[in-house]
Amino acid sequence: QRFMLQHASPQSGDGSLERQARREEEVEADIKRGIHSREFELFYQPIIDLREGWVAGFEALMRWRHPEKGTVSPGEFIPVAEATGQIVPMGCWALEEALNAQKRFQEIVEPHGRPPLFMSVNVSGRQLLELDEIEKLGAVVARSGMDPQYIKLEITESLLVDEPMHAAVALEQLRNKGVRLAIDDFGTGYSSLSYLHLFPLDTLKIDRSFVSDMVHDPRRERIVRAISRLARDLDLNIIAEGVENDEEMASLNRFECDYVQGFHLARPQTADQIAELLAGKPVFPRP
Ligand code: C2E
Ligand code: MG
Ligand code: MG
Ligand code: MG
Repeated sequence: QRFMLQHASPQSGDGSLERQARREEEVEADIKRGIHSREFELFYQPIIDLREGWVAGFEALMRWRHPEKGTVSPGEFIPVAEATGQIVPMGCWALEEALNAQKRFQEIVEPHGRPPLFMSVNVSGRQLLELDEIEKLGAVVARSGMDPQYIKLEITESLLVDEPMHAAVALEQLRNKGVRLAIDDFGTGYSSLSYLHLFPLDTLKIDRSFVSDMVHDPRRERIVRAISRLARDLDLNIIAEGVENDEEMASLNRFECDYVQGFHLARPQTADQIAELLAGKPVFPRP
């Protein structure tokens, strides 16, 4: 219920609400068709270790290759899939698919003496509402044969703030499977600092909006610096999202941010493109 409310945008006049509901039904049917015709695909965006200047892992990002609309971005279909519950099986598929890709990527770098690459997968709050679903995710992890310490699940802070008791149980269950948990888009929601020590988190992802405003706004920069410090003091890894230029890289380097992710370093790409990148010499310039 809550998750549906969250995504329903406020509309005035019942006509537009009706129209919105109809539109949602259309997208729902289209998603169903798309799943059936295997139109969904994962792209992978490299996440770079700032000290080493090397790929440390990836975030799996869903794409929809629509026969008429071309590539549809998740911003357009994830909210509907969450409202309809379709995100639950889709998310399970995404985890399985991402872990297959992770295995493939690790096999490429292993002979070069590179440490294992992590894989980060977005998980919707909807997927964590039932214990059954959490068990399914655990089963996917177990079946993959991958070492769970290199698997990260990204959760947004709204889940933790809206349903703290439920979230605590759900995240504890996941953590017991050995996977790592990241808090995504940190700073955009209601950002209650209290949850940082209440939940078994491993990584904090600073939202893109903070990173991109940073160089023009000293106050934003100080917020990023403070979040970095806080995370370090709490033994959390930090990933800065949406890094688009050298200036941002330099600031993040000064704040001793652990990992960076953004178009400046690498865009989300297909598994084949990533395989090619890793087979080459994927070294990224350090600021
Ligand atoms: P997110 O998890 O915060 O993912 C990061 C988003 O930032 C991605 O957008 C990525 O392409 C974009 N990004 C990365 N670097 C840059 C940059 O330098 N500049 C700019 N402008 N953007 C950058 P994308 O792929 O469109 O995904 C949007 C959101 O959709 C994700 O945000 C996530 O919340 C959701 N999503 C994507 N895939 C999945 C999935 O498999 N399951 C679930 N539940 N949600 C997903
Ligand atoms: Mg994410
Ligand atoms: Mg994010
Ligand atoms: Mg974000």
